[in-house]
Amino acid sequence: MEKGKLLYEGKAKQLFQTNESEVIWVEYLNQATALNGAKKDQIKGKGELNNRITSLIFDYLKSKKIKNHFIKRLSANEQLIQAVEIIPLEVVVRNVAAGSFSKRLAIPEGTSLSLPIVEFYYKKDELDDPMVIDDHILFLQIASTEEIAQLRQLALEVNHALIELFDSIDIQLIDFKLEFGRQKEGSLLLADEVSPDTCRLWDKKTNEHLDKDIYRRDLGDIVPVYQEVLNRLEKRGK
Ligand code: UDP
Repeated sequence: MEKGKLLYEGKAKQLFQTNESEVIWVEYLNQATALNGAKKDQIKGKGELNNRITSLIFDYLKSKKIKNHFIKRLSANEQLIQAVEIIPLEVVVRNVAAGSFSKRLAIPEGTSLSLPIVEFYYKKDELDDPMVIDDHILFLQIASTEEIAQLRQLALEVNHALIELFDSIDIQLIDFKLEFGRQKEGSLLLADEVSPDTCRLWDKKTNEHLDKDIYRRDLGDIVPVYQEVLNRLEKRGK
């Protein structure tokens, strides 16, 4: 596989063409951002940790029959993925109140939700990724009614599998964000990444944050924390 020209540069990843039109070469960067890019830092080791964690999680999801775009990890900070047309929605699943949910609805962080909640946000930096309801998604022609139903269903399936995974390594899955793409023939495929950048993970025994809130809230260094998540995932696999 040959690495071709840069196709897209995001906040945490660069996407490159390859000699196969359906395959994308991803490089995970050391950049950390929060507050829609207003807070930005280079953190040595972050790209490698997220690449390794996402690769392990996507392989695990495959073993649970949840199809996703991950093909294989190439190196410490690179992986190959299947090309899809990304749907501009952030699909958030919540099991426990935290972050923007706690703020908006004045529900203390850590309050268990009786059923998982699925929310959609429109990926649009200029608008600060506003929350959208089904009718907005239809009006904006982002996805069809059937696709919205499928996105909810798939997000809940991922939630079920991830709760089991993290529970087995003494981590409580508070909430997370997913992105999906459309394949050529139109079916939906889980894409992007699943890492401590995109999930809230609390240690089951101590409630310690093992995720990007450490960076967002200036609680310390994320590298040892992400390393701890990777160590637990790798130990589980042995
Ligand atoms: N999230 C993300 N990218 C975003 C916004 C949120 O990965 O652009 C994740 C975040 O890490 C958390 C979940 O989605 O696990 C819910 O985030 P929330 O809406 O509470 O927003 P925040 O408090 O992070 O602003």
